[in-house]
Amino acid sequence: MTGFKTTLIVCKQCGRRIMVRTADAERGSITCSHVGCGAINNLQTSFHFDENIVRGLPGFGQLTYLDDPEITYPLRFGSNVIGIADSCTVQVTRFVHNGRCFISRRHCTLSVTFDKWTGQLRYQLQDGAVDSITQTIQYSLNGTLLGGALLKKTEMIDVGDGEIITLGGTDRFRLMHYSIAPAMLETYKVELDFNPDRTQ
Ligand SMILES: [Zn+2]
Repeated sequence: MTGFKTTLIVCKQCGRRIMVRTADAERGSITCSHVGCGAINNLQTSFHFDENIVRGLPGFGQLTYLDDPEITYPLRFGSNVIGIADSCTVQVTRFVHNGRCFISRRHCTLSVTFDKWTGQLRYQLQDGAVDSITQTIQYSLNGTLLGGALLKKTEMIDVGDGEIITLGGTDRFRLMHYSIAPAMLETYKVELDFNPDRTQ
């Protein structure tokens, strides 16, 4: 998975090719080996992470009901529709307060994606859910809040680890991210090309 290929770059001073080795790449610079030059060339390396890493993860985070931490809901990779309907990815309990439930059938959508630049999962929340028949977003009746602030319609907002999502103004859930371990991440690192030149 991880692979550092032997790479040649063109020296910025003498214009001749120099071979970059792993140690140079790790240091981030290389000294030109050509006679009479010796210029230090900075290596503009960059990398991202292979999204196939998500296939090997044991979980994708969860929501915990604040009034009863025993109640937790696991999330899956991709789109999680949260609500009380059977059709939801995350079907929550029909919590009743003074005889009323404030959570809509399909209340909000929490998307779990992989950010290949940070190597971590990204959680984004929006009010409502796409209706399977009309293919349009049907908003919740009583709104979705993040950290106490009401989400605007069509707004899609990042949810940090430990942040509180409130459904219908009453029922609060804490999002726990799944954090990918650095050791695992290292094996899915993909080196990108050097600038300005790359030759195998
Ligand atoms: Zn040189």
